[in-house]
Amino acid sequence: MAVLIDLIRALQSAEVEIVDLTADLSPETPLLPLPPQWPNTPPFQLHEISRYDERGPAWYWNWFSTGEHTGTHFDAPVHWVSGKDLPANSVDRIPARMFIGPACVLDITAESKSNPDFLVDVPFIENWERQNGKIPAGSWVLLRSGWSKRKGSAEYLNVDENGPHTPGWDKAASLFLAEERDVLGVGVETIGTDAGQAARFEPPFSNHFVMHGHGKFGLASLINLDLLPSTGAVVIAAPLKIVGGSGSPVRVIALSGPRTEIRGKLWVRQPLVHPQRKFSC
Ligand code: MN
Repeated sequence: MAVLIDLIRALQSAEVEIVDLTADLSPETPLLPLPPQWPNTPPFQLHEISRYDERGPAWYWNWFSTGEHTGTHFDAPVHWVSGKDLPANSVDRIPARMFIGPACVLDITAESKSNPDFLVDVPFIENWERQNGKIPAGSWVLLRSGWSKRKGSAEYLNVDENGPHTPGWDKAASLFLAEERDVLGVGVETIGTDAGQAARFEPPFSNHFVMHGHGKFGLASLINLDLLPSTGAVVIAAPLKIVGGSGSPVRVIALSGPRTEIRGKLWVRQPLVHPQRKFSC
């Protein structure tokens, strides 16, 4: 198909760039801190099987243990009680075509700097649409908060005596995106797709409740959203095919143009092409 040949050429020439939206996955990866009455997910751990030694003279490999919801990860509808009876609600049953979609990037960097509990509401989304056009059905809505730039778990989780303080969405905004815009799902830089204070919302964790109840997905702990344009990038997020899985760590990548308009000023990036990368067609 001509469009695929054009895409391969655009990738070769770096006219289309690959942006990695995935954080490092390691024992240091921050974990969602649930209130103390509920068990938490274990940290990621790598266990060495052999490393060119007596356990395997020519090969290096590991096994790993992790939670489904650790690091940059995908939330499937079955993750939430509101989505438990939906068809094709676990990572193995979601049609693969739903792992690719256009990205709409909402920038709340300034708002969440002055207010870490900032919530996107419907007027904020409508204002974004006035500047960027209507959010298309089947798109990922990504919340650029700058949160992935925070160093270390304490700064990233931002917990005090009242719990975590990180930005997110109010319930009406989640309902608007799920029902009025029929998005694929939402993605965030923070540890989960709900705001830090969302355990106190009605219903608790309202974004999870609304999105997954409508068969929508979530992406958490994304990075590099500041390298994406407001519209025009394509996100690929394909979780592991864990049978019955509620989510999975995922390598999220975006296809993006090298020249992007950000807040009115043209911003030109250097191509990020790996020197070894070659395509043939
Ligand atoms: Mn999750």
